[in-house]
Amino acid sequence: MAGAASARVRSGGGKPALTLATEVAYLKGAGPAVALKLRALGLTQVRDLLFHLPSRYEDRRRILPLNTVKAGDEVLVCGRVVTAEVRNAPKRALRVVIDDGKASALLRFFHFNEVQKNTLVEGVWVRAFGTVREGMNGPEIIHPEYRVAESAAQLPPEEHLTPIYPVVAGLTQTRLRALIKQALDVAQHEPAFSFSLPGVPEPGTLSALRTLHEPDGRDLGDLLLERHPAQLRLIREELLAHQLCMRLLRKQIKNAPGARIEHVLPATASLQEKLPFALTGAQRRVIAEIAHDLDLGRPMLRLIQGDVGSGKTIVAAAAMLGCALGGMQAVLMAPTELLAEQHMRTLAGWLAPMGVDVGMLSGKLKKSEKDEAMRRAASGETRVWVGTHAVFQSEVRFKKLGLIVIDEQHRFGVGQRMALRDKGPAGVAPHQLIMSATPIPRTLAQTVYADLDVSVIDELPPGRTPVQTAALSNERRGEVLSRIGEACRAGRQAYWVCTLIEESDQLQAQAAEETYRQLREELPELHVGLVHGRLKQGDKDAQMRAFQSGATQLLVATTVIEVGVDVPNASIMIIDNAERLGLSQLHQLRGRVGRGAQASQCLLLYQPPLGEAARARLDVMRTTHDGFVIAQKDLELRGPGELLGHRQTGLIGLKIADPVRDAALIPPLQKLADDWLLKSPHEARQLIQRWVGDAERYAQV
Ligand code: ADP
Ligand code: MG
Repeated sequence: MAGAASARVRSGGGKPALTLATEVAYLKGAGPAVALKLRALGLTQVRDLLFHLPSRYEDRRRILPLNTVKAGDEVLVCGRVVTAEVRNAPKRALRVVIDDGKASALLRFFHFNEVQKNTLVEGVWVRAFGTVREGMNGPEIIHPEYRVAESAAQLPPEEHLTPIYPVVAGLTQTRLRALIKQALDVAQHEPAFSFSLPGVPEPGTLSALRTLHEPDGRDLGDLLLERHPAQLRLIREELLAHQLCMRLLRKQIKNAPGARIEHVLPATASLQEKLPFALTGAQRRVIAEIAHDLDLGRPMLRLIQGDVGSGKTIVAAAAMLGCALGGMQAVLMAPTELLAEQHMRTLAGWLAPMGVDVGMLSGKLKKSEKDEAMRRAASGETRVWVGTHAVFQSEVRFKKLGLIVIDEQHRFGVGQRMALRDKGPAGVAPHQLIMSATPIPRTLAQTVYADLDVSVIDELPPGRTPVQTAALSNERRGEVLSRIGEACRAGRQAYWVCTLIEESDQLQAQAAEETYRQLREELPELHVGLVHGRLKQGDKDAQMRAFQSGATQLLVATTVIEVGVDVPNASIMIIDNAERLGLSQLHQLRGRVGRGAQASQCLLLYQPPLGEAARARLDVMRTTHDGFVIAQKDLELRGPGELLGHRQTGLIGLKIADPVRDAALIPPLQKLADDWLLKSPHEARQLIQRWVGDAERYAQV
């Protein structure tokens, strides 16, 4: 692609000519060790360096007189060293006092080496950059970035703003800047950068990149607000590339033949006869939309958005049953073993009375069981399947896979969904139904799921009363305990969720075990259960079953129960350290109660003092129950990366655009993407290559 067609730039010394596709290790100053650090940042080719944009800028264009600096300011100062000494108390440090004729300031280094000690000596001049603090004897800067010279004249301020890049340990800003400069020089000669982007406002790509990497600071304010024309240009490019990519994906899947399944509505009718409840209007509407899709002979790509507890599972069950009655296979994939098992029980409960078998593909099956399951999948004997993503991605083969249902979409990326195409019978792409765990505001869905049709379940099953929610300081834990004890003795069931910010399974498990021990001690008359990610599968099952059957009254859990666990009799939810969690997660957890007829309570225990953001989140929880509203607030309070979880953002892979901040830019780009696919498919592919890479994968249209 770009590499083959590009002009050659000699880097001298007989090294290979550099192109955008050249590996970074061939750049001057990038040996294997540096290349390894760059790889950790996802930078492997020269091209990648161009798009590694500064996360912020520092202004080192003016040297401030020392008598004017104020605590808290980030400043560039310059002075002559009057004293330099290592002191051991109160803490070992190299202390360097500089003087610029107007005043003096202290530079303090807690970490320093011999070289530093030997260059920062009395009489030399130092130019230092850092944040000023108020010290005992005037201003001081701890660990400034600095340069040393014989005279002040040799230490002029910078001409440009200084870009600060995301780096990893062992890779300096200076090194990275030098590499990016080389990448810009290579790009100068690349035809891949000279094609025009019809409909996207100037400046050109390369000039925009130059502005961001080497800003002259004329529009400093705009730059810092991420509203500079150069930034807007690149944001538009990236959003356009993303829209194009999603459209091509969709087209590619939609162009493949899909199995025609005509049995969803009859399946729903016979399912309804055996159900203990009536489907809601919203559920029936969404099932009808699915039935229509499946009957078209083209693969379905549909997202079901519905609040926690809106009843997405039965909708999936109707589609799967329709598939089975039509002679095809269907599989439901869950993110965790716990959820897969619950879905297994639920589906079997609904489908067994209709004479339909449900098979399980779990990582925990014994070898012989797994072999048997694989055989039944391959022979087509069992038509309805439940499994975890992990298992599904492995070697399982289905005879006639017609439908894939993905529960809790936020853990499953576009790339992974691409791979599903190949699981169908030869030449036929399975239908895809994706159930989102968390409602997502429309503006965000437009960007993130541009390739999906969306159905919304905007109605909860009847008889649900909103969960009463209160936030309580941890100081009132004693009160909470006695209320829980009372409630459980009166026949109610409660969850006690322990949270930690750390992703570590082990620490989470420890916290839960500790709480479990305490609760058993304080409430000896209750049957208390415990589930966390580190328990053996069998133990986890036993614990969940005991809670489901009512044998345990209080279940201590980690956030493993966050998504999807369904025990209708549980009506109290206590969340420990609720201030640490984001809104979506809190909403998910609260959604575990309020599922039965009984009025439910949710107690958010927090560790005082509460920060402002945490207080705002807890307030939203106390006053709002609508998942769509909460999702919107979550965006406003936290930004999209956190809403979707880092994995998801990683999968979307946006480098510079932010679907929330840039929401207003998106609608015209959607139209532009449609135009491009008709009139400029070649440019479309080049733009995808530029921003997403791997264009070949999307190019088979
Ligand atoms: P979610 O959308 O969060 O996945 P579930 O599918 O787990 O929700 O459903 C939540 C609970 O509501 C389950 O116990 C389910 O059986 C029940 N349910 C689903 N639909 C209805 C309905 N129409 N009427 C009453 N209860 C329902
Ligand atoms: Mg669910």
